[in-house]
Amino acid sequence: LRNERESMMVVSSFAQKFFENTMFQTDEGQSVGLSYFRSRGFRDDIIRKFQLGYSPEERDAFIKEALKNGFKQEFIEKTGLGIFKDDYRADRFRGRVMFPIHNLTGKVIAFGGRVLKTDAKTAKYLNSPESDIYHKSRILYGIYQAKQEIVKQNRCFLVEGYTDVISMHQAGITNVVASSGTALTQDQILLIKRFTPNITILYDGDPAGIKAALRGIDLVLEEGMNVKVLLLPDGDDPDSFSRKMPAEQLIEYINQHETDFIRFKTGLLLQDAKNDPIKRASLIQDIVKTIFTIPDPIVRSVYIKECSNQLDVQEPVLYAELTKLTRQKR
Ligand code: ATP
Ligand code: MN
Ligand code: MN
Ligand code: MN
Repeated sequence: LRNERESMMVVSSFAQKFFENTMFQTDEGQSVGLSYFRSRGFRDDIIRKFQLGYSPEERDAFIKEALKNGFKQEFIEKTGLGIFKDDYRADRFRGRVMFPIHNLTGKVIAFGGRVLKTDAKTAKYLNSPESDIYHKSRILYGIYQAKQEIVKQNRCFLVEGYTDVISMHQAGITNVVASSGTALTQDQILLIKRFTPNITILYDGDPAGIKAALRGIDLVLEEGMNVKVLLLPDGDDPDSFSRKMPAEQLIEYINQHETDFIRFKTGLLLQDAKNDPIKRASLIQDIVKTIFTIPDPIVRSVYIKECSNQLDVQEPVLYAELTKLTRQKR
């Protein structure tokens, strides 16, 4: 089984080189793939750093090349890079720009592929399927490129997508990872915890981003880690936003606008609960629930105090709510 995983990684690495070479060395790759990345403002050194590539339109270009180089059909299938059915065979990724996903040691284990033109019919991103080497809930995009800086800065930025990670790197912020293609999981938080207890969630400023951030907060707190949140202006994601200003200004913006999770939650929920006592009450319960997920009692008490100030509720009332939750859990 170990040999099998090894073989899967070798064919994945071969695929990465194939997609990269195709993009830089063929006419189709240059005129479609490379020019797409350049038109989005990605510099060549960053394209190389993330080993980006392009998969040709031709139905089985990759399979042909892999078989020619002695790779077995079995591993092309197991990695999901190609499908075989009787006489029919086809590459999974065709006519897409390619984002290889690396494990902690820098080995390619999967890909995300983006269509060049988005429309309602086709999914914008297509990812490798789950396999013995790729468990999407346990890996974070960019962790290999980010881990050193996460330790050094003792903080990790969490963004939504591939291009957010890459653009932040280009802007000089390299302690950043994405939970690409899945809702954030406990295993992904634990992966970050190996390098730092401090996470700043930096999600898209749309309703989906807000919802995902609220979920992320609870997951991070459950692990006894510290979480801050920065919501970008509606319509922006870290990729688009980071292009609007020089790097120093971006870092300054982040430091000024990141907020404590309590402030984030209250600010958000108070918007439509201000003068409605019922909504206000349920908001308070909601926040106490979040505080309840914090394992450390001292940290909890700090947040109870903060919550008490923010919402103008006395601390004993909040502690009573906490006690209620403790009873329910038993
Ligand atoms: P771009 O800037 O290229 O349009 P994005 O990263 O801003 O991409 P979003 O729509 O914000 O795209 O999605 C965030 C992330 O979620 C993507 O980077 C991708 O990893 C994942 N994702 C989005 N759509 C899909 C999809 N249809 N299937 C699988 N994963 C997806
Ligand atoms: Mn979005
Ligand atoms: Mn986005
Ligand atoms: Mn985007």
